[in-house]
Amino acid sequence: MTFLSTSQPATDPAMEVLRRYFGYESFRGFQREVIHHVASGGDAVVLMPTGGGKSLCFQIPSLLRPGVGVVISPLIALMQDQVGALRQNGIRAAFVNSTLSGQEVWQVVMQAKAGALDLLYMAPERLLMESSLEMLASLPLALFAIDEAHCVSQWGHDFRPDYLGLSLLADRFPAVPRIALTATADAPTRNEIVQRLCLQQARLFVSGFDRPNIRYRVTLKDNPRQQLKNFIETEHSGAAGIVYCLSRARVEETAAWLVNHGLKALPYHAGLESETRRRHQERFLFEEGIIIVATIAFGMGIDKPDVRFVAHLDLPKSLEAYYQETGRAGRDGLAADAFLTYGMEDVVLLRRLIESSEAEERFKRIEMRKLEALLGYCETTSCRRRVLLNAFGDEAAERCDNCDTCLDPVQTWDGLIAAQKALSCVYRTGQRFGAVHLVDVLTGKETERVLKFGHQRTSTFGIGQDLSMGQWRSVFRQLVAGGYLSVDMEGHGGLHLNEQSRPVLKGEIPILFRHDPIQSSQRHKERKVARKTETNRERPTDFPPAPGTNHLWEALRTMRLQLAKEQNVPPYVIFHDTTLRAIVAAMPATLEALAQIHGVGASKLKNYGQQVLQLVAANRAER
Ligand code: ADP
Ligand code: ZN
Repeated sequence: MTFLSTSQPATDPAMEVLRRYFGYESFRGFQREVIHHVASGGDAVVLMPTGGGKSLCFQIPSLLRPGVGVVISPLIALMQDQVGALRQNGIRAAFVNSTLSGQEVWQVVMQAKAGALDLLYMAPERLLMESSLEMLASLPLALFAIDEAHCVSQWGHDFRPDYLGLSLLADRFPAVPRIALTATADAPTRNEIVQRLCLQQARLFVSGFDRPNIRYRVTLKDNPRQQLKNFIETEHSGAAGIVYCLSRARVEETAAWLVNHGLKALPYHAGLESETRRRHQERFLFEEGIIIVATIAFGMGIDKPDVRFVAHLDLPKSLEAYYQETGRAGRDGLAADAFLTYGMEDVVLLRRLIESSEAEERFKRIEMRKLEALLGYCETTSCRRRVLLNAFGDEAAERCDNCDTCLDPVQTWDGLIAAQKALSCVYRTGQRFGAVHLVDVLTGKETERVLKFGHQRTSTFGIGQDLSMGQWRSVFRQLVAGGYLSVDMEGHGGLHLNEQSRPVLKGEIPILFRHDPIQSSQRHKERKVARKTETNRERPTDFPPAPGTNHLWEALRTMRLQLAKEQNVPPYVIFHDTTLRAIVAAMPATLEALAQIHGVGASKLKNYGQQVLQLVAANRAER
């Protein structure tokens, strides 16, 4: 299909496609620039955060240029959803993968040859088969889009060997523009994409990585599952979310615990049978309000727009991974939360894993730096968003007013003396004990262990009675997180001094500690009511309406679910929450008025318009 020869040269054809097919009124960020560049035959590398709107950057040029746009996407399981969503918008899309019969593949190819296809989705391994390459060579091609392009990076967490083979596209199809897209922000990954996909001539588009609608929060661990449950119940009751855990066992336990406590949670990890995994993913997409508890194996390529929270019960692998994972919340631009629980045990575990690994020194150093960046994020007393954005080389304001440290500023205290006492205690007790024992010594507890090792006779016994045991635990955690103490390799959590301890002991550098807020579940309960009003006040919107408060909203959602079931697509493919919300606000009375609503293109207007208008009318009568 081509819009290039429009009868009204004054209007922008890209804009026309945006309005007609997608029902959106304007481009976001540099979408317009990318679309124009690729539509006129240029190559592009596009870096945009998750939810930034990468898909339109290749979908619209495919519609504008003659021929079919080939989209390379790593996950077969999700192609069907993407194609389903495009068809809802009246776009002629198809996929070719191993789930289709030879006959079905042939039909798709025939459609493409006849010019009756705008977009064709394929997995890289399929595309690289000689037969596929020959087939593609016989078609008029609009472009190649390489989605999730960071999968070429061998250092990254999503490496796919098949992606390396995609370099041959440059040789085999020199005249076809290529666009590579990713949400992974760091410079090394970007360079790898350019190198490995032979995109040296491509124009680079790098957007800001801020996701202003996501509220970042780090909570100290104190019964993390209970904390998670409180968080969900007070702030995201009935909403869809993702909970990340480090291991399969923790995933299973956490999911079972949440289910026992009345929440709709499902586990997802690489150890489950593929059929179970598929079913759980499908329920997450097709039903509303499902919580997926997962290892990092879950999430890439999932473009469910209404995930309201992403929680981490264990520390993620790196700040990059954290940003990518939390980015799966709030793609629709509505308020969403990133929630992380963190404690001393995480720091000890991760430091030990790296120190005791068999990997090369160089690799260990990289891992250690990554961990330090992550701990810096957890322990920061300034704006979290700023820490995140700075890590990716992005500019950021002093404060964002949408993270826990901005909303509830952290008090700090001069911790030099306490740090010196703590480090001396480590030294005097022989540099092999963990924080629990050291706190007993400092606070002068004559425990069995203290007596067994004769630590009641050391000079540091009982010198720390000015602080509570909780405060001392916080001191040790912050010393380890800050690198002033090292963790032993055997895994008993024993602490010893290192290079960085010396200037502290000599009083050569200032030490500032954060005052940890009180975290007990009891206190949380007390604050529950207060918190709710607080949250509403702070949030830019009062969305979604509380259950039972808005009939039209609920009627529209019921209609959406019904339509989705009939067509076997996820509800958000019919209409996004943002669209339903706009309908509730505008109460359109005519098709013309409905057509103005965000997310209502020509195809949806035709298919669902009357039904929506009837609901609005019935509701108006009821009022
Ligand atoms: P990404 O692939 O970058 O994570 P998507 O392409 O899935 O993001 O887009 C995220 C959401 O934003 C989608 O729901 C999409 O429909 C919506 N969106 C994209 N571009 C626009 C736009 N110009 N105006 C309004 N909504 C948009
Ligand atoms: Zn902030």
